[in-house]
Amino acid sequence: MNWKDVLPKIITQPGSRLRFREPLAKHTHFGIGGEATAYIEVSTVSELAALARFHTEWNVPVAVIGRGSNLLVSDSGFKGISLRLVGELATLEVERNIVSVGAGLALPALSKTMSQRGLGGVEFALGIPGSVGGALIMNAGAWGSSFGDVVTDVTTMTDTGELLNLTHAEAGFEYRHSGLDAFFCVTGATLTLEPGDVNEITERMQTFYKQKVATQPFTEENAGCMFKNPPGDSAGRLIDISGLKGYRIGGAEVSTVHGNFILNLDNATAEDVLKLVAHIQQHVSEKTGIFLHPEVKRLGFD
Ligand SMILES: Cc1cc2nc3c(=O)[nH]c(=O)nc-3n(C[C@H](O)[C@H](O)[C@H](O)COP(=O)(O)OP(=O)(O)OC[C@H]3O[C@@H](n4cnc5c(N)ncnc54)[C@H](O)[C@@H]3O)c2cc1C
Repeated sequence: MNWKDVLPKIITQPGSRLRFREPLAKHTHFGIGGEATAYIEVSTVSELAALARFHTEWNVPVAVIGRGSNLLVSDSGFKGISLRLVGELATLEVERNIVSVGAGLALPALSKTMSQRGLGGVEFALGIPGSVGGALIMNAGAWGSSFGDVVTDVTTMTDTGELLNLTHAEAGFEYRHSGLDAFFCVTGATLTLEPGDVNEITERMQTFYKQKVATQPFTEENAGCMFKNPPGDSAGRLIDISGLKGYRIGGAEVSTVHGNFILNLDNATAEDVLKLVAHIQQHVSEKTGIFLHPEVKRLGFD
C-alpha cells in the first residue's frame, strides 16, 4: 500500500484538511516554490501525534510550515508532507502575566492581543509576519529583542508522537537560531510577560511597526532578511556598500529600500533567488572580506 492511501485514514478531524499536490508558492511570503506531495492542516494534538508516528513508520519526510515568511521552497517542490498547525495547536491562554501559546498562532496577533492586555515583551513582533512556531525555531527578533527572551518553556513533539517539555535553556536560543528543529515539531510555549500600561505598550508596538514599514519593503513578496547580520555589523549595510541594491537576476531583485531583502518582483524562481544569493555572497566577500550566511531556511533542495 502507498503512504498516500493511508493518510486520509489519519486526517479525520473536522478542523483538519488534507490536499495532494499542493503548490507551496501560495503558502510562502516569497510566492515561490513547487508542489508538496501532500499538504495538511492539522487541528488536534492527537492527530499530530498520529502523523508523527506515521512519518516514522512509513519514513515519509515531513516539513512544518508556519506562515512561510522565512522560507525558500525549491522549484521542484517538496517530496513529502508539509504541515501547518491550526485549531487547538494555535490557541492562546493568558493567566495574569503567564501566557500559553500554540505554535500555529500568528505572531502579529499575539503582539496585538498582549498589548491590549497590558502585557509587554512582544511589542517588537507586530511587523514579523510569522507564526509562534517559526519565531521559536528562528528565535525571531527586532529592535534588540528576541522571541526567546520571553520564553519560559517550549513544548515539542517527538518522532514517536510524545510531547516533551523543554526549559528555556534546553531550547538553545541563539541569534536567529534555536536547537528546536531537532524535533518532529514545536507545538507551543509558555511566555512570561511584563505587566505594564496598555497605552505605553501599544504606543511602543506601533512605533516599532511604523519604523519597520518605513525602512523595509512590505508590499513586494520576500522572505524578510536573506542573511544573518555578521557580529557587530549589518548585512544590509555590507550589501549596500558592495553596490548591490537593485541588482537583479531573472525575476529576483535586491531591494532598493533595504539591501538585505530579496524581492520576487516578476515571477522569480527559487533558482533565480539562489543565483542572486551566491552573487551577493561572492561580491560582499570580495569587497569587505565578510562572508554572509543565509537566515532564510530552504525546503526541497537536495
Ligand atoms: C516582511 C517580513 C519582515 C520580517 N521581519 C523579521 C524581523 O524583523 N525579525 C525576524 O527575526 N524575522 C523577520 N522576518 C522573517 C520571519 O517572519 C521570521 O523568521 C518568522 O519567525 C518565521 O516564522 P514562520 O512561521 O513564517 O516560519 P516559516 O517560514 O514557515 O518556517 C521557518 C522555519 O521554521 C520551521 N517551523 C515553523 N514552524 C514550526 C513548528 N511549529 N515546528 C517545527 N518547525 C517549524 C520551518 O520548517 C522552517 O524551517 C520577516 C519576514 C518578512 C516576510
